[in-house]
Amino acid sequence: MFKNLILRINNYRVKSGKYGFKASEILVLCPKCLQNPECAKDILSDPYSCGRCGRCNISDLVKISETMKVGIAVAPGGRLACSYAKDKAYKAVVAVACPFELVAGIIKTFPKPVYAVRNITPKGPCIETKVDPEEIIYGIGVFTKV
Ligand code: SF4
Repeated sequence: MFKNLILRINNYRVKSGKYGFKASEILVLCPKCLQNPECAKDILSDPYSCGRCGRCNISDLVKISETMKVGIAVAPGGRLACSYAKDKAYKAVVAVACPFELVAGIIKTFPKPVYAVRNITPKGPCIETKVDPEEIIYGIGVFTKV
């Protein structure tokens, strides 16, 4: 798939860089579809309102944000995701999304580096998606290494 090839090339290019960013300069950007559909927590307004019940990966990502001191934002769609990614407070983004949204976001956010993490879609696109937290931790490490 052409978009997956673009993502592989992007991540290869990003991994080749030496950044040395502070954790606080890195944003973990997540899609709303990671949230368990039965959860009423308003994680779009405040990801830290997650009750850490473990029914979806939002709890893992919030814990990563807290322990590694990186920023976190949850976006309902591509337009708001791009606005978060362009926030000047952040020098790099670890973004979780489907290949289509990741490629669009990388282009719109350029030249800010984006490490792209594909979400897993066991129930189909945009429904109760999942992500491997280790991939997020790896992406953060790409931007903090000197
Ligand atoms: S982990 Fe957080 S966001 Fe997910 S279902 Fe539990 S409280 Fe809701």
